[in-house]
Amino acid sequence: MRMDSKRQIYPTQWPLVILFILISISVILAGIIYYNNQKQALLNEKQLELSAITDLKIKQITQWRLERIGDGGFLGENLILVSKLSEFVKNPGDKVLRYDILQSLESLTEYFDYKTALLLDHDGKVRLSFPGQDSLIGDHLKPLLPGIIKKHEVVLTDLHRTSMISFVHLDLIVPLVDHSSNDTTVLGLLALRIDPQKILYPMIQSWPTPSKSAESLLVRKDGTDIVYLNELRHLKNTELLLRKPISTQKLPAAMAVAGVTGTIDAYDYRGVPVVAAMKKIPGVPWFMIAKIDRDEVLSSLNKQMTMVLIILVLFILTSGLSFGFLIRNQRVRFYREKYENELDHLALVKHFDYILKFANDIILLIDRNLNIVEANDKALETYMYTRNEIIGMNLSKIRAPETLPRLQEQLKIVDERESATFETLHQRKDGSIFAIEISSRVVNIEGSRYYQTIGRDITERKSAEETLKESEEKFRKIFEESPFCMVMTGKDFGIVRANQSFCNMIGYNEEELKSFTFKNFTHPDHVANDEISLLRLIAQEIPIYHTEKRYIRKDGSVIWGSTTISIIRDNRGEVQFFLAMVEDITSRKKAHSELIVAKERAEEGDRLKTAFLHNVSHEIRTPMNAIIGFSTLLKEQDLSEPERNQFVDIIFQSSNQLLSIINDIVDIANVESGQVRINFREMNLNEALRSLNEQFIYRERENNVQINLTTGLPDEKSIIRTDGTKVIQILSNLINNSLKFTKEGQIDFGYTVKNDFLEFTVKDTGIGISHEHIEKIFNRFYQVDVAGSRQYGGTGLGLSICKAYVELLGGDMKVESESGKGTIFTFTILYVPA
Ligand code: ADP
Repeated sequence: MRMDSKRQIYPTQWPLVILFILISISVILAGIIYYNNQKQALLNEKQLELSAITDLKIKQITQWRLERIGDGGFLGENLILVSKLSEFVKNPGDKVLRYDILQSLESLTEYFDYKTALLLDHDGKVRLSFPGQDSLIGDHLKPLLPGIIKKHEVVLTDLHRTSMISFVHLDLIVPLVDHSSNDTTVLGLLALRIDPQKILYPMIQSWPTPSKSAESLLVRKDGTDIVYLNELRHLKNTELLLRKPISTQKLPAAMAVAGVTGTIDAYDYRGVPVVAAMKKIPGVPWFMIAKIDRDEVLSSLNKQMTMVLIILVLFILTSGLSFGFLIRNQRVRFYREKYENELDHLALVKHFDYILKFANDIILLIDRNLNIVEANDKALETYMYTRNEIIGMNLSKIRAPETLPRLQEQLKIVDERESATFETLHQRKDGSIFAIEISSRVVNIEGSRYYQTIGRDITERKSAEETLKESEEKFRKIFEESPFCMVMTGKDFGIVRANQSFCNMIGYNEEELKSFTFKNFTHPDHVANDEISLLRLIAQEIPIYHTEKRYIRKDGSVIWGSTTISIIRDNRGEVQFFLAMVEDITSRKKAHSELIVAKERAEEGDRLKTAFLHNVSHEIRTPMNAIIGFSTLLKEQDLSEPERNQFVDIIFQSSNQLLSIINDIVDIANVESGQVRINFREMNLNEALRSLNEQFIYRERENNVQINLTTGLPDEKSIIRTDGTKVIQILSNLINNSLKFTKEGQIDFGYTVKNDFLEFTVKDTGIGISHEHIEKIFNRFYQVDVAGSRQYGGTGLGLSICKAYVELLGGDMKVESESGKGTIFTFTILYVPA
């Protein structure tokens, strides 16, 4: 625990501020870039427009000049005028002619833009002029005249101003030659003085669209200067007067002279920034310049930009406000949380005070020197000291002396881990010792380390633990050492413990069992019942569950266990364990079932023997009665011979019958006592069977049954080694039975060879044997229906004798039968060819 007394101040939200600044800068930069792009585009566009205007103007001026020169040509070719003029030059006193010529000159000035028309003789002297007051030839023109006269060429002079003629003008000089004669000498010259203010200047200055600052002008290079030729829009009366050095930087006129045709970055004669286009006019040393103030070009953009600027400012203001709002909200939240924390803190302090005072545990604050700095009421009560006594007391005083050696070690653990829990002994003021559980923690208060120690008197718990331990130990002993098999499972039926007896019984060791539930070793037949019963046990429907069930041992063998299961619950009644006690009752169960079998066998034997005795007595009594009866009759004197013979026959037959019964009984007695011997001898099987067949022929007739023999070996190969007497006895027995139980139909008997065996069959179409009896007919004395069989006679011994003989001969005997349809007896014997 760290107690921080510093007050928390809301930290400046630098990330938000920086974000705001970044957004603002980005927005401003975007605005500037946009403005510059727009500006550039606008200026370039304007410059192109100016360039078009320049071209137009140049075209107009060139056209005007050509017209003027054309005019001059036309006048020079005008024969009437020329003759008139030449006439007048010859006769200057001819007033009529003079008047006539003046009329012509006047009409020239009237209908064209010529201000003055002068007639000069070939020496260049003015002979006539209109209007009269302006009749001088200026310094500019004079030097040109001889050349013009010489070349006979119409000349349009440059714009000029002379000392004699104060206004700016141009002169159209037309040499007059009389083309009607062969003489081509120049008779005189017609000088037409053009006032540019009339047509030329307006033509230059006119602008296709209204504009505050647009202007087109003409300039000319004059030595190292630029001379402005026309009147300027922004500077009046400057034509041919305004000059600028050719070296003036960014002056459109200077640029024009240097061959530049367009600029968006120039300063005009006023020094005002302008966009300009310029071009040389062909045929004259003039340059045409069209220009417009940049301010005018950019004014619309600036208006637009003002809007953009307002929007940007509004955007920045809004985002500034939003950021401010955000920061303010965070600050409010921060202080609110702080306030709530402080409230919580206060509550916590109160809470701790309360705990400290009324806690049921001893609470001590101990300094580095192990002196008690603070102790709660419980501590005072437990240790029996007053507050004054205990405060400042060393910890060693309340520790039991025998625990002091461990003190340093325990403190070291607390120091290392910052907190630790351990048990020790403390002593009260009266010297009594008690067990205590200590939970100690290092706390930091104003930079110093203390031990905050909470102690609990665990005397009672200790003794309870002791008791529990003892009882657990007792239980463990009983459990472990019990001769009874015991196993404990948890709530989930998983094995928790198993004692040695159980392990011995089941074959698994305890470790193996711990990964099992009871289902792993319970026979599947009992699992469902066990589960239901355990649930009933949980639901307290039954107090205890007892069952006898089968267990499957580790080696797979099955054992029986008498099992009693009880439930162990905790104080709250929650199920903790199931305790099962198992007694191995396998041998008891086995003895019991063997007893039952033996009993059943004995009962069956009894029943059979009774039936046998009953039967035998009948079988014996019948021939015996016959023998006794007819023997007595033989004594009669008056017996006829045939009668006597008949009686002797009856006695003989009855004796034979009696003998056969006794033979049967002797045979079975021999079989049972193991005295039957097998005599392997050679026998001719086919012959023996054929003679047996013959013995039955008379019975065949009696019974209305046909007997057929089939032999499986050719006669020459039918000599075999076996006990022929027994084979014949068996077959004769079976055929006798078939005859006994077959009213009509046929009896087939014979044999086939099957590998190392001979398989004999006796098949009849008699009454058959029903399903429930068929398994028992080989039992001794067994007859399907004792009562019913009486009509057929017999002892129930024949088949058991046959079966015993077959087995002695190395074979096996089977029967198949269907009630009412017939019976097939099959038996095999070893086939040993002789
Ligand atoms: P028994 O001397 O009574 O004939 P056996 O042991 O030879 O005694 O026969 C047992 C019983 O099996 C007979 O009582 C009879 O019910 C039945 N049995 C034997 N052979 C036949 C057969 N071929 N057809 C029907 N039942 C037969």
